[in-house]
Parts: sequence; C-alpha cells; structure tokens
Amino acid sequence: MTLPESLSSRAVTDPDVKATYGIDESVGALAPDRYEVVRARDLGDVVDVLAHAQATGTPVVPQGARSGLAGGSVALDGGIVLSLEGLTTITELDAVEGIAVVQPGVINADLKAAAAAEGLFYPPDPASSAFCSIGGNVATNAGGLCCVKYGVTADYVRGLEVVLAGGEVIRTGHRTAKGVAGLDLTGLFVGSEGTLGVVTEVVTKLVPAPDPALTALATFDSLSAASDAIVALRRERHRPSLLELLDEPTLAAVQAIADYGFPTGCAAVLIVQADRPGHTAEDVQRYAALLEEAGATEVAVADDAQESEALLAGRRALHHALVAKGTHFIEDVCVPVRQLTDLITAGHEISARTGVEITMSGHGGDGNLHPSFFYDAGDDDSRHRAEEAFGELVKVALGMGGTITGEHGVGSLKARWLPDEVGAASIERQRAVKALFDPRGILNPGRVYWS
Ligand SMILES: Cc1cc2nc3c(=O)[nH]c(=O)nc-3n(C[C@H](O)[C@H](O)[C@H](O)COP(=O)(O)OP(=O)(O)OC[C@H]3O[C@@H](n4cnc5c(N)ncnc54)[C@H](O)[C@@H]3O)c2cc1C
Repeated sequence: MTLPESLSSRAVTDPDVKATYGIDESVGALAPDRYEVVRARDLGDVVDVLAHAQATGTPVVPQGARSGLAGGSVALDGGIVLSLEGLTTITELDAVEGIAVVQPGVINADLKAAAAAEGLFYPPDPASSAFCSIGGNVATNAGGLCCVKYGVTADYVRGLEVVLAGGEVIRTGHRTAKGVAGLDLTGLFVGSEGTLGVVTEVVTKLVPAPDPALTALATFDSLSAASDAIVALRRERHRPSLLELLDEPTLAAVQAIADYGFPTGCAAVLIVQADRPGHTAEDVQRYAALLEEAGATEVAVADDAQESEALLAGRRALHHALVAKGTHFIEDVCVPVRQLTDLITAGHEISARTGVEITMSGHGGDGNLHPSFFYDAGDDDSRHRAEEAFGELVKVALGMGGTITGEHGVGSLKARWLPDEVGAASIERQRAVKALFDPRGILNPGRVYWS
C-alpha cells in the first residue's frame, strides 16, 4: 500500500522506530509484515488519512500511547497505524465551567497535573496513568484505581470531536454542565475502541480537588472475610477512594521482586484509601475499624502522605512483579462485588486442576479483577493450557452475571466472547451501528466484532 504524497511526510520510515508502533502492551502482540505508520500533527492529517483510507479501502488502526492490554492498537496487515500521540495540547482549562478541552495525545497524568494546578481533579486513574493517553482512555472507557468512588472515564466526558471514516468531522455532546439535545453520541463513541471514528478532541469534566489520600492496609486469613470487608466498605456513606485486593499468589510475586512489607501465607491483602476533604484521618480510621470487624488479622494505618505511598508501593509495583514472574495473559473480568470470593476461589480451583499458575488481584471494590495466567512462552502446550484456563474463568464470570471486560476493552483478545455476553440480537444491532459510521469497515476491522 502506498501513501499519497500529502501523507508521506508524516509517515515513519525508520524500520526500528516503525516497529515500536506495530504493537501494544497486550500479551503475544505481533506486528504484521506490511503496514504504514502516520503520525498526525493536526486535525487535517487525521482527515486526510481517513479520506484516503475510505477511498482505497485501507484498514486504519487509531493509536494513542499503545498501553492497551486487549490488542486493540496492534497494526493490521496492509493497514495504516494512525498515531495521535503527537497531539498533546491542553487547549483550555476552565475552573468555573469545570472543564478541560484536550487533544487526544495528552497523557492522563499530565491532565491530572494541569487540573491540580487549578485546584481541580480529573479522577479517571488507570494504573498506566503516567503513560496512557486521554484519547486511548476515551476509546477504551478506561477505569483504574479510584473508580470505586469516582467512576470511569465515561463519567467525565462531556463532548468529543470525532473524524469519521471518509474524513467528515463531527462534534458530539456539549461543554455546558447540562445538555440533553439529541441522542447521546458521546456515549456511543466512548468505549468504541477506534471502530467508529477517530477522537481528535475531548471535553472533560473536572471536579474539586480531594485531600491527599490516607491509606490503610489490611491482612486477611480468609477470602470470605476480605469479601465481607469490601461489602461493608461499599455500604459506607463516605466511600473509599481506592479499594484494591491482592491474593496470596500475587503477594508472593510482589515480594519476590522486593520487600514491600506484604505478609506471606495470608489469603489476601486489601488496600483502602480515604480522600474526603477535611476528613481523611477520620475516614481512614473508620475504614480500619470496619476492616477489623470483618476479620482482618492486622491493619496498618498511615498518618501522612509518605506512609500512605509506602503502603501503596507494593500495589504500584504489581505490573512489574507479574512481568518479572513470567509470560502471562491478563484477564479483566468484573463480577457483582458480593461474588468476588467465589470468583477468586474458582480461579484457585482452575489453577489447582490445570497446573496453570494464576494470580488474582485488582480493583476489588468494583468487583473488577485482573487474574493473570502464567505459561512457558517456548512451550505451545503450556500456552494452550493457559488459554483454556483463561477461557474457563471468563465463563465463570459470565455465569455470575459479570462481564468479560471491566475496563481494558474487547480488542482482539476478547472478541470471541463478546457474543456470549451480549447475545446475537445485540451483536446484530451493534454491527448495524458500526456499518452506519463505517460502511467500508476500514476502522480497526476485526477488533471488538470478530469477523
Ligand atoms: C501497566 C499497565 C496498567 C494498566 N492499568 C489500567 C487500569 O488500571 N485501568 C484501565 O482501564 N486500563 C489499564 N491499562 C490499559 C491501558 O493503559 C488503557 O486501556 C488505556 O486507556 C489505553 O490508552 P492508550 O493511549 O495507550 O491507547 P492505545 O493502547 O494506543 O489504544 C487503545 C484502544 O483505543 C483506540 N484509540 C486510541 N486512541 C484513539 C483515538 N484518538 N480515537 C479513537 N480510538 C483510539 C485504539 O484503536 C485501541 O483500540 C493498563 C496498561 C498497562 C500497561
């Protein structure tokens, strides 16, 4: 495939640099042999790529910071990777309206920092905040560590500018605090994983800044006690701003890379934070009391920001610890909170029966875990068994009324299970919507909807 003259100056030609745009963070991602990479410098470049792609029937993979875990931003054979990472301007930050207007390549942590400088807060907080982009967050409807109190990306998107297949530019939603005119196309694009259009501007809602969080860390000898604690904390009028769970195999993996002070031999650790302005000390003590009432064997409570960070450090190191442990698939199932214990127990049973090592950890307060399935990368049989175990746990989660993905998206890795979750009639309607926006099927084809 040849790019037109107008786009070739935006194309990446160095093979080594180009290779870095071929994959994302998903396990086993492989770049195809033939693809082009165009780094957009402005709206016009995006329009040109989508006009060319539509005219020639060329697949386009919109791409942010390539931190995706579902394989949604991996290059497609014969296609164009359209990188938005160079569009990094925060165009506007209005404390009175409580909004920021940003380009898609703005890094999540940079928007948080800009908001904080105005005494405001942009809550969506994926663990990848330091390196993922707002465009990618919008396209995956990213969650993260503080959803238990603040919700997900969709709760903070007021409006979008989107370039459609063919190059037409539309605006959705509104800038104002309220706005109910017409269908909610913003909601349609949020979480559409680059299959309906390319997001080129985002109007985000900002909220008043919380206080620096105080942390409590609790150790449990039984999963059911940890689960009781989560249920009790979710009933609180002033909900924790973070509620993370790590099971025993996860704690062992984290302790294997450095001493984060996690106990060994316990069933689970819960990490809880309070950030209510003027009440953090009071709330974290209240959470500690609830953790003890539920059966925690030990509870450590931070007095200041430094101790708080120290208690959270092991959770922050989790991704590195799991990578150091070995090659693994990462799950993203979400189940009703009360069924968390059953999900973890099912994971441990699958592990014992199949011999596949499985760690279970994640956003316990949301019922959203990231079970990881380890395998020997050089052994096809080992990989196959891990895949089977992965599929088994997806089915367990669906059987509990849960979902195949709480926040990472469907991408390529989960597409086969989407019909099991939403059903044939819904898939048919979703495909019809996709066809309305993308009649030639050039936008991230094969992702989300298995072809
Ligand atoms: C260590 C680590 C921790 C993580 N923790 C979390 C977490 O806590 N919560 C969470 O939700 N995710 C998490 N993730 C996953 C990932 O960071 C998120 O999915 C993130 O939203 C992806 O952003 P990105 O900019 O890297 O997008 P990419 O990976 O580049 O793209 C992701 C998807 O969005 C589409 N896309 C990107 N930009 C646009 C655009 N401008 N217009 C249209 N489509 C677009 C792509 O086509 C693709 O389908 C984690 C990842 C890592 C590596």
